[in-house]
Amino acid sequence: MSFKALNLSESVLRGVQAAGYTDPTPIQLRAIPAVLGGGDLIASAQTGTGKTAAFALPILTRLGTHGRTRVLVLEPTRELAAQVETAFRDFARFSDIRPVAIFGGVGYGNQRAELKRGVDIIVATPGRLMDYLKEGTISLRDISILVLDEVDRMLDMGFLPVVKDIIARCPRERQTLFFSATVPPEIAAVASFALRNPTRVEIGVARSVTASVNHALYPVAMEQKFDLLLALLEKINFDSVLVFSRTKHGADKIARRLKAANHSVAVLHANRSQNQRIEALAGFKSGKYEVMVATDIAARGIDVAGVSHVINYDVPEKPEDYVHRIGRTGRAQAVGDAFTLVAPENANDIRDIQRFIGQKIPELRLEGFEYKAFAPRPPQAEQTRTRGSLPGQIRHKGSFNRYRQRR
Ligand code: AMP
Repeated sequence: MSFKALNLSESVLRGVQAAGYTDPTPIQLRAIPAVLGGGDLIASAQTGTGKTAAFALPILTRLGTHGRTRVLVLEPTRELAAQVETAFRDFARFSDIRPVAIFGGVGYGNQRAELKRGVDIIVATPGRLMDYLKEGTISLRDISILVLDEVDRMLDMGFLPVVKDIIARCPRERQTLFFSATVPPEIAAVASFALRNPTRVEIGVARSVTASVNHALYPVAMEQKFDLLLALLEKINFDSVLVFSRTKHGADKIARRLKAANHSVAVLHANRSQNQRIEALAGFKSGKYEVMVATDIAARGIDVAGVSHVINYDVPEKPEDYVHRIGRTGRAQAVGDAFTLVAPENANDIRDIQRFIGQKIPELRLEGFEYKAFAPRPPQAEQTRTRGSLPGQIRHKGSFNRYRQRR
């Protein structure tokens, strides 16, 4: 089915065409008619499935032309707010609809000026939006469509009270769209408070890893992690690599050491100033930086075309973050590789991740790297090269368990 058959407005169809999309993704096929129908929606879909357009296109069709502020989209991070606002702007370029992004860390001047000119769509992070609501610069009385995006992450970040407050300030008569990668009970509770008779759309299994990503574990001793990272960077033929660290401090440290090894590196985490965050992301997107070191919060949902590799320097703390992190590569059907460096200390985390995604992650050993302690031994008989593995790499079946047992 094409976008044409989905009853989108002429100007939105032109916007979609200009964006270069030809066929709707599965979530777009299911969500667009539901949103156009005016009812509430709960959609669970992985990032990278095209969910932004799944709500932006029908919303723009419903809005038609410029008028009052009728749409509010809540996002957990500044980067996502900026990214989603840009998507709205792109799709709306053949109409007079005006979106604005509202987030913290930058001055109030430009945002106030845009609000004063009149906007149709506000894409905001909860904190800064609340500032404007309290001072009366923004009113939500004409909101007819409320979108809560990445709800699970928004709640993880402690935004629940303020999100509830914002929902309560919207008119009761409205359409509410709810997007969350996972819908555990505490999120279902927010949904039942915010939504009425929602249509449910579930795309794939929220726990699954994007099929276009080849992923693998690299067992290594803790003290050799950085050396293995360097060796991997040297071996792989990458366009751009996203490296994940558990902590902000860790991210800074990895970046410093990578710089010392002559890599061009950007850093993205919540302790950096908004200008630094914007510069890091823009530089990574443009290719100025070949590597970006990030924490989970900063990188959730970020869409960077051409991320060829994701390297989990640290194993993610929460199993669902594994899915999100490696979803940064292989987006929109490109093929990507995602590697996780695993120290023996992380054995339990890996077990939880494998249970969560319902599959075993293959283990690899980097040929030519001088492993000290704890490196998996090459298996005696089974040596299989797999699609996407690196030259000289060997896939090990179960070697990680063997080396755990040896400890
Ligand atoms: P999202 O899940 O909304 O972050 O989208 C992930 C990526 O897929 C973005 O780069 C989108 O521009 C791209 N995308 C979304 N829908 C389509 C489509 N129908 N055809 C091609 N690319 C798409």
